[in-house]
Amino acid sequence: MICQRLLIISAISVMAFADAVTASVEWQVIKVNGRDFLAVDNIAKFYGFPDPAFEGKNVRLKNDKNELQFMIDSREMLINGVRNWLSYPVFVHDGKVVVSRIDLAKTLEPQLRPSMIQNLPRVQTIVLDPGHGGFDKGAISSYGYEKDYALDVARQLRPLQRLPCHHDPRERRFRAPGTTRPHCQ
Ligand SMILES: [Zn+2]
Repeated sequence: MICQRLLIISAISVMAFADAVTASVEWQVIKVNGRDFLAVDNIAKFYGFPDPAFEGKNVRLKNDKNELQFMIDSREMLINGVRNWLSYPVFVHDGKVVVSRIDLAKTLEPQLRPSMIQNLPRVQTIVLDPGHGGFDKGAISSYGYEKDYALDVARQLRPLQRLPCHHDPRERRFRAPGTTRPHCQ
C-alpha cells in the first residue's frame, strides 16, 4: 500500500516538477482502459520539439538538443539514436498518437532532461559484460552467433578501459575470450 502510494506520488511529482519548469504547456492526460497516455503533440510542445513529422507509421521529433524516432503500434523508440523498448506501444487513439505516461516519466524524461535527475551519484564503474558465450551461442543467423557479435562490441569498446582509472583497478573488467564470466584485469 505504502509502496503503491510512493509510486503514485513519484509519478505525479515528475509531472508536477516538469510542469513548474514550463508552466505554459499543460499535460493533458488521456485515459485508455484505465491507463494514462499523453498525445505526441502534447509531448512535442512540452519538450520544445517543433511540429512532429508523421510519415506513414513513422514519427520523428527533433530539435537542436534531442531526437525521438518511433513507429505507431511499436514499442521501439530511438532516443538520440539509442534504441529503447517502451512498456507500451505508441498507438493512435481518437485521431491522436499517444505514448504511455509511465514511458514518458521513466524512459523519455530522464533521457531528454538528464539534468533534472536529482541526487545522481557519479558513475565510477563501467562493466562490459558481453551476453552469452561458450556453449551458449545466443541468437543464430547466417551471419553468425550473437555471442561473437556481443564480444566484438565489447572489444571495440576496450579503449574505455584504458581511460585513467583513479580508483580500484578491479573496476576495469572485461570478459576474456573463452570465458563466460566477467573477470578482473
Ligand atoms: Zn541474447
